[in-house]
Amino acid sequence: MDSQVISCDHVVIGSGIAGLWTAIHLAERGSVAVLTKSTLRESSTEYAQGGIAVALCPMDTPELHEQDTLEAGAGLCDEPAVRVLTQEGPQAVQELIDRGAQFDRENGTLLYGREAAHRTTRIVHAYGDATGAEVERTAIEAAGELPTITTYEESAAAELIIADGECAGVEVVRIPGGQRMRFIANSVLIATGGAGSLFLYSTNPPVATADGMALALRAGCALQDMEFVQFHPTALASEGYPKFLISEAVRGEGAVLVNSEGRAFMGEYHQLADLAPRDVVARAIVSEMRKQGGQHVRLDFSPIPAARIKERFPGILDELRKRGFDPLHSAKAVCVWGVRELRRARGQPAGQQLTAGRAGVRQTHRGDNGPTGPSTRRPAAEG
Ligand SMILES: Cc1cc2nc3c(=O)[nH]c(=O)nc-3n(C[C@H](O)[C@H](O)[C@H](O)COP(=O)(O)OP(=O)(O)OC[C@H]3O[C@@H](n4cnc5c(N)ncnc54)[C@H](O)[C@@H]3O)c2cc1C
Repeated sequence: MDSQVISCDHVVIGSGIAGLWTAIHLAERGSVAVLTKSTLRESSTEYAQGGIAVALCPMDTPELHEQDTLEAGAGLCDEPAVRVLTQEGPQAVQELIDRGAQFDRENGTLLYGREAAHRTTRIVHAYGDATGAEVERTAIEAAGELPTITTYEESAAAELIIADGECAGVEVVRIPGGQRMRFIANSVLIATGGAGSLFLYSTNPPVATADGMALALRAGCALQDMEFVQFHPTALASEGYPKFLISEAVRGEGAVLVNSEGRAFMGEYHQLADLAPRDVVARAIVSEMRKQGGQHVRLDFSPIPAARIKERFPGILDELRKRGFDPLHSAKAVCVWGVRELRRARGQPAGQQLTAGRAGVRQTHRGDNGPTGPSTRRPAAEG
């Protein structure tokens, strides 16, 4: 079957925040095709809950954010990448605001939440716990206003086209139907997100299947840091797939992990107790689960006033209630377990091929949230 051939200046693979934001910036430099294998919205970005860590609060500085990130990274961070994240974060979030993102405010001032390993409140959020959906909406609308961007839904990148050692485009398979298309471009950006859905248990959406890593590997790139799989400590221990993530912002607001005896245990593992880096919390949960014969630990919401839970975590509350848990009306509300989070890799550039966001390039996130914990026997992944 002949494939349709489309020529453009730039191809971006993936419609999460990394892909769309890059496309928006590339749009000044020529025509951009954004490919995405499901709908535009279906991405980890859409499901991000707690918010974005950024030094915008008047008492905060990028330098403090950098220090916290490096400390949580336990010496394993790529320092220049951390610097980019912490120094450029405020400007990037301001750009999201300028393009219409509605982050939560009180009397016009941004509200900041707190999460593990951050010494201060620095998490901007939207609609309580629907930050990702607001970021994705903003990016889709901003991209939609630019005439040089064309989006292709249900179009999965299947193979990079390599000519004379350079990346010249990408082969695409339409889903469903299986028709082939070829995009020929001066640059190809891989922004395909993570690998979480390769694991038996995951809180990632089904589209997170490491496609970008596979594309890069097949094109001859080396992958780096594949051993870094981030654990998200708290996913709801209930039926269904993907597993429902309970943001660590919940612990930032005061919720406490307790064992089967109802005893708070995080203080025995780290001086920051429930606000320890994410990997420390994940390991502690696994350790407690082992001590109690594999039973899940629980997340006690009772230190958070009910009104605050409703205001800050409306989406989480709603989902928990749908699944038969009600943190407003039971003392030890929610069974959780330590799970394994997303894998990141660094693809080396081949010609004009680049990577961004979860699919690529630099090792900040593991530092932002802490390095990898040990494997649980039944791994699960988050974003
Ligand atoms: C439940 C959950 C909660 C989270 N909460 C937070 C939070 O509070 N704060 C925070 O900072 N981070 C959070 N994260 C992580 C955050 O969402 C991700 O780090 C970020 O959104 C990744 O963006 P991305 O653009 O790199 O990837 P994604 O948003 O996953 O986008 C990848 C895109 O690539 C597309 N794609 C994949 N393969 C192909 C292919 N072969 N061809 C074409 N398209 C393809 C996908 O369909 C998707 O559109 C959370 C993640 C999850 C899953």
